[in-house]
Amino acid sequence: MRALVDTHCHLGHHFDLGVEDQLARARAAGVRVLVDVGTDVASSRAAVVNAQAQPDVWAAVGLHPNDAGTASESVLAELDALAGEPRVVAVGETGLDRYRDTATPAEQDRAFRAQIAIARRHDLAVVVHCRDAWDACVRVLEEEGMSGPDARVVLHCYSGDVATTVRTVANGWFHSFAGNVTFTNAAPLREVAALVPDELLLTETDAPYLTPHPHRGSTNDPSFVGLTLALLADVRGAHPDDLADIVLANTRRAFALPG
Ligand SMILES: [Zn+2]
Repeated sequence: MRALVDTHCHLGHHFDLGVEDQLARARAAGVRVLVDVGTDVASSRAAVVNAQAQPDVWAAVGLHPNDAGTASESVLAELDALAGEPRVVAVGETGLDRYRDTATPAEQDRAFRAQIAIARRHDLAVVVHCRDAWDACVRVLEEEGMSGPDARVVLHCYSGDVATTVRTVANGWFHSFAGNVTFTNAAPLREVAALVPDELLLTETDAPYLTPHPHRGSTNDPSFVGLTLALLADVRGAHPDDLADIVLANTRRAFALPG
């Protein structure tokens, strides 16, 4: 069975299933690598615990832009400490969100830049959440020197338009597609998904959110990531097994995984 990858899930957010149940389902579906992503200090700490207990789980530690107003010095210091833990491969999710206004643009900008600095200090990838803020997101990442071959930036739940994608591809950033690319109304996003070069393509679930078609309406879990991979293979005219190999190799590079 081909090896699948879920570069972005929230194992502690699932409404019904515990971590072991989600992992059992994922493993049965062929998922071999999962990144459990924190959105605040508590969920980041839980992600580290999961990653240190499970051989196929890795952790990202960060503060979601919707919670950027809580980015006190002590919160940032706690994230900095967690970033130094074994099996932490990224800082995030961090970024900018102009769709929700639970944190001001200034708070989001400050927390985003602070987390990029933590990632640099620990030589980790940055997992970026960007919603309705692409120009600002690209600008912050460029200003913080995150362009080029050494910068490991993962654009989670990628939703940029064609013009944005020209810039994100030129910067060498990874584009991680989630279940929303399978939605019946997502033709523009599928067009973008066909444009991203092989070497910058990743897959994720963002579970328990964004359940892919045809399970939309039920709770998402990492076992569904194969549906997104199959859709991406279809729009790109690739064989799913070949694309799975490419995504696995990209994941190892993006998060500097061993092996
Ligand atoms: Zn997420």
